Amino acid sequence: MGTDGEPSLLAELAGRAEAQSSGVSRILVVDDDAPLRRSIPRLLADPARHFDEAASLSEAIARLEDRSYDLILLDYHLPDGTGLAVLDWCSRHKRRDAVILLSGEDGIDAAIGALRRGAEDFLRKPCHLAQLQRAVENALQKASLLRLNAQISQRLKESERLHRYLVESSPDFIFTLNAAGEFTYTNPRARTLLGYARPDLAGRSIAAITSAEDRPRVAALFCNPELPPREPQSLEVRLERNPVTADGQRSELTFALSTEPMVTRGGSDRPGQFVGTYGVARDISDRKRAEEIIVYQAYHDQLTRLPNRLLFHDRLELALAQAQRRQGTLAVLFIDLDRFKLVNDTYGHAEGDHLLRGVASRLRQCLRRGDTLARVGGDEFLALLPDLSSPTDAERIAEKILQTLTTPFQLKHGEFRVTVSIGIALYPKDGEIADVLIQHADIAMYQVKRSGKNSHCFFDPTLNANYRQRVSLEHDLRLALDRDQLALAFQPQVSVGRRRVVGTEALLRWQHPDHGLINPTAFISVAEEIGLIGGISDWVIDRACHQLSEWRGVGHTDLKMAINLSPRDFEHGDIVSTVSHSLTRHQLPASAIDLEITENLMMRDTARCAEKIARLRQLGVGIAIDDFGTGYSALGYLQRFQISGLKIDRTFVRDLNGEGNPIINAITGIARGFGLDVVAEGVETEAQLGHLRDLGCDAMQGFYFSHPLPAEAAEETFRRMPARLLN
Ligand code: C2E
Ligand code: MG
Ligand code: MG
Repeated sequence: MGTDGEPSLLAELAGRAEAQSSGVSRILVVDDDAPLRRSIPRLLADPARHFDEAASLSEAIARLEDRSYDLILLDYHLPDGTGLAVLDWCSRHKRRDAVILLSGEDGIDAAIGALRRGAEDFLRKPCHLAQLQRAVENALQKASLLRLNAQISQRLKESERLHRYLVESSPDFIFTLNAAGEFTYTNPRARTLLGYARPDLAGRSIAAITSAEDRPRVAALFCNPELPPREPQSLEVRLERNPVTADGQRSELTFALSTEPMVTRGGSDRPGQFVGTYGVARDISDRKRAEEIIVYQAYHDQLTRLPNRLLFHDRLELALAQAQRRQGTLAVLFIDLDRFKLVNDTYGHAEGDHLLRGVASRLRQCLRRGDTLARVGGDEFLALLPDLSSPTDAERIAEKILQTLTTPFQLKHGEFRVTVSIGIALYPKDGEIADVLIQHADIAMYQVKRSGKNSHCFFDPTLNANYRQRVSLEHDLRLALDRDQLALAFQPQVSVGRRRVVGTEALLRWQHPDHGLINPTAFISVAEEIGLIGGISDWVIDRACHQLSEWRGVGHTDLKMAINLSPRDFEHGDIVSTVSHSLTRHQLPASAIDLEITENLMMRDTARCAEKIARLRQLGVGIAIDDFGTGYSALGYLQRFQISGLKIDRTFVRDLNGEGNPIINAITGIARGFGLDVVAEGVETEAQLGHLRDLGCDAMQGFYFSHPLPAEAAEETFRRMPARLLN
């Protein structure tokens, strides 16, 4: 490892050394004999040689302190010492300058002394020129080779240091394994990532620190000397942290591992032999976790952490396949919170979320291990009971759910009781595929809603038709407003005393393209449930005001208009500004409008409603309670809400006989007591008219005078209400 760059490095170094050897060699001539000292440079002259001179030992040392030489031609006898002292100086200073000692001294001791001290050669003076030249050339060549050698080994050391640095400081875990898969080298990341010091891993098998799931694969790949990995490998492995040093951290990390087989090189005894594995492992745990979170989020509901529809569907399909194999049954429960919207609208979404989490947790407690609970919509849950011994099992669980919800939830505003409607569909009886079972559980749930909520019911195929009708009604209703299919009919209100029409009530009609004219009782409650009523009411208010303004313009100057509102109109949007804008737009006095509300509106959310009603009253708009006496009428409400009128429901008028009617008596009494206007509805006969008049009721409305009519026909009745009817 780490030697890939060496051939080119060597070449570079060799090149540099050659360049240097072809450069100038510096030679120092040390001799006290001045003529000789000067003749040597001439004798050895070469453009590639540069000569310096020194006449004494001290001068030579001064030169050497200044710089190094490729060669020193050194006289043995110097005026201030022997040439050996120069050699000693060089060795003391770890100098490698090559030295040739020249001496007239015959003694062998001088020669031995010089060579021992590292002199390159020893020449006797006087010496032949050829001898001197050969010695100088040899020494220079040797010096140059030595220098080259030193440079190369220096570069190699640097390069190794660089490679070591790169490996040791790598952010990845880098290691080598022997043929048996045991660590032979690990970089320091083993410690920071996995908590293993180098000695902890040395000689240990990589399989020993691999997670149990990945161990067989890793052992087969790297720990079998008989079958070594011949190819580079890329794989994901989970390695275990050192249990001693992990101190509570995640106990395993996921790595992307790349390995290369290591084989002996060409120059070795048995080239190409597998000796182990070199590996780089990158910690991808964070990425893996992010991926897991993304996958988790794709299959779970964020709020309750329950499976979502997608995961439920998967589990249901799996359970269906199993049930089919073992010929078992399973159940799907569709669980829908009753009136959950009210919580969101009244207390806000944070409380709504809090409640949903609480409900989810209670539902979960009612189920067994192996059952799946999913949240599939705002307030809709699905439960899968994959293993039923009989349908009564599903029923028992549904009852348990209803029971567990009887304990109220604690909200910031106080206690809140949740009820749910549960529909149950069974495999194989009610369907054999997932979508059908879910849809049939939904239909059964819807049936529970219709018959009073807070209960459960099994799917019944005869329900299916009703359900489809309802679904198509909802669908069509969503389009009705845009497609201009809504219209208003107007029913006159008559003052018997003044013998003329004094007002009119706007009644909504839906001209359905296939089913003809549909009355409001058939669709208002649907519009309320699916949240369309707000838009419809806005339209009604605007149309009615527009119509009234036209009529007032053509002479019916004191005509009034009664407009029906839904309780929902007081929960959403700003009914007060809708009304006041409409009045302004159509230039109507507020007193021309009576808004009809129902008694149950007042029971719902007293504070907010009372406040809106008060603001409408301040505008000058009249507020009448429609169908008075049929709902929950508490007299206290009449006081708390600034009501201006009551409408006697037609059921009381219908029951009028010769005796009079005590309820109508009471109602007119109350109205008088509270100073309220009264309108009697549903007057169909002359006799009823007479009784009502006798009971002190002046304003009336009913088929006796006129059915609700389109605008033009209604206007006709304002002009010419037949006099006989008013007698
Ligand atoms: P309501 O406000 O009590 O309206 C009176 C209903 O009694 C009308 O039914 C009318 O056609 C009917 N009626 C009038 N005179 C007689 C009579 O002499 N005998 C009998 N048997 N019935 C009579 P309609 O138009 O079907 O409206 C039903 C209900 O729908 C209304 O009752 C009202 O609560 C609601 N509604 C009508 N228009 C609207 C609207 O624009 N918005 C809202 N939110 N509700 C509306
Ligand atoms: Mg009405
Ligand atoms: Mg009514």
